[in-house]
Amino acid sequence: MKRAAIVTVVAASALAGATAAAAVSDDWHDWYQPGRWSSGTVSGVATDKSVDWRFVDDFPAAGRALAKDGANEWNKIGTSMSFHFQPNQPDFDTLNFEACSPNYQADKVGWGTFGAAGFDVQEPLAQTSMCMIVASLTTAWDFKIKVNQDAPFYLGESQSVPADKYDLWSVMSHEFGHAAGRYTGNTGGDGLGHYTEASDVCPDPGGTVPRETMCPHTYPGTYGERAPESHEIAAFKGAY
Ligand SMILES: [Zn+2]
Repeated sequence: MKRAAIVTVVAASALAGATAAAAVSDDWHDWYQPGRWSSGTVSGVATDKSVDWRFVDDFPAAGRALAKDGANEWNKIGTSMSFHFQPNQPDFDTLNFEACSPNYQADKVGWGTFGAAGFDVQEPLAQTSMCMIVASLTTAWDFKIKVNQDAPFYLGESQSVPADKYDLWSVMSHEFGHAAGRYTGNTGGDGLGHYTEASDVCPDPGGTVPRETMCPHTYPGTYGERAPESHEIAAFKGAY
């Protein structure tokens, strides 16, 4: 069965060339950076773990409800960190999409071109990038999610996901999980904020054990990764 990576996570620690932690632990609590989102002032920059977000203007209308579903999966858990879609604001202009500075506008989600034209399952389906406050690389200022516009996504909410489509809701839940703080360079799982592929929580599909939202890959025709599972919920609560 075809599988596709759902993420590459780029974190400030990696951008800065920081040495990744050597030890790999199975303790999923470690997969969050504690307080990655905080409320207060960091290096003179106002921060907030109630994170506003919007779309960029090329994010297709047909996919927007699914993106909101993905964000809401984490909000429903009810921690102090949450995502807030700004319904009364215009879309972001894609022109400034790559910018990242302490004066960065606000939080944004993008359906930008990702990868070469012509979908290949070897391309990631989506990618989350974090913008960190420079003087404090542990505190997030912004995030962005790119979705592969060439991927064969299922854009519905039914559980009848076609066998040749990837479930966008599941992918968005996964990416917002990264935006919430599951990040690269961490000490557990695959080092990218994921469980290890083929571990107990990420079995091959088709069995009786559901794959968790933060497995490193997803499969077409499945919807079971939409809602975070118990481990993921506990880890999120532990971080916030
Ligand atoms: Zn991921």
